[in-house]
Amino acid sequence: MYIYADNAATTKIHPAALEAMTKCMEEAYGNPSSLHSVGQKAAEVMQKAREEIAGLIGADFREIYFTSGGTEADNQAIRSAADFGARKGKKHIISSAIEHHAVLHTLERLEKEGFEITLLPVGEKGIVNPEDLRQAIREDTALVTIMYANNEIGTMQPVDEIAAICREKKAIFHTDAVQAVGHVPIHVHEQNIDMLSLSAHKFHGPRGIGVLYVRKGVPLFNLMEGGAQERGRRPGTENLPAIVGMAAALREAVAHMNASGKKVSVLRDMLIEGLSKIPHARLNGDARKRLPGNVNFCFEGIEGESLLLLLDHRGIAASSGSACTSGSLDPSHVLLALGLPHEVAHGSLRLSLSEENTEEEMKHIIDSVREVVEYLRNMSPVWEDLEKGEKEHVI
Ligand SMILES: *Cc1c(COP(=O)(O)O)cnc(C)c1O
Repeated sequence: MYIYADNAATTKIHPAALEAMTKCMEEAYGNPSSLHSVGQKAAEVMQKAREEIAGLIGADFREIYFTSGGTEADNQAIRSAADFGARKGKKHIISSAIEHHAVLHTLERLEKEGFEITLLPVGEKGIVNPEDLRQAIREDTALVTIMYANNEIGTMQPVDEIAAICREKKAIFHTDAVQAVGHVPIHVHEQNIDMLSLSAHKFHGPRGIGVLYVRKGVPLFNLMEGGAQERGRRPGTENLPAIVGMAAALREAVAHMNASGKKVSVLRDMLIEGLSKIPHARLNGDARKRLPGNVNFCFEGIEGESLLLLLDHRGIAASSGSACTSGSLDPSHVLLALGLPHEVAHGSLRLSLSEENTEEEMKHIIDSVREVVEYLRNMSPVWEDLEKGEKEHVI
């Protein structure tokens, strides 16, 4: 038995997406910009996919820009809004302390270029307080960029309230919804979202393809120079097989969202209940306002990396927070933002589930984590000090 519980890092492709992609490569192989009938067939296929994706997130097809994924969509949204703001003398940007690095590192660059960045705190539950935004927002705030759901701890942000404040204060609101699209209902028009990033491989679509939604009337500048694709805003020959695969994956995800959300959240709560029984363990992030499939725990006295390797030996694929952070020795910026001390932020475990997981797998995960945590603690000098009372438990 091998259990895949790392769906926040990437997901297995949906058979419907795979089939749509193969068919597209065989039958719609033309370049959508070509004037001959092979090209025009590809253009038609692309238009259908664009309309379908737009419909599934509550947008108009003219508001959809295909990108190479979530990272590019985040970069373009933020740089574009910053550029537009700067032209009007607005050089202040608000975000949160727990954003993905695609957002945080872009903001660090802009800070060096003379923008002022305010990162809102998230408290111990990992959720932005809209009142903090109300306090921070100013006349010269060009952009507010706050993620829909966090990739490490799964917490859902109060997007509707945030969007309402931005509308009132006339600041552009962008949300990195890469973890949320296909998993929870989203309607960009009804929710007053100005810009939104999504990525296909987080909802069982292919990698290397995503969307930047930009509401009509919000200006968009291009990151790269080139051809006139995507209405001149994103040059380069379109990755049509991936676009078609993304549309198929999103169609499936939205069609089964209700049932799969219910099923996955039952599995999630089983895991949370089982893992909470391990002594000196702590659930990270709000217990209820979180993605249906996200579980994130800290175990005192444990190194995240050793835990992951031993779980892998037992047939469980998990993660220590974000795939982008693991491999580095820095503790997660998300866990630090919750107020966890450095030594505890090192010992985190993220399990991210999909509708393919089963109750039996959850039992196996709970037993394995309990045993591995005990094994590692028995070998740990830090744990010995804690047990002897020479150091204080923090969890
Ligand atoms: C995965 C992820 C990204 C990056 O998306 P890619 O398509 O892999 O570039 C950005 N933001 C969040 C929240 C993510 O989970």
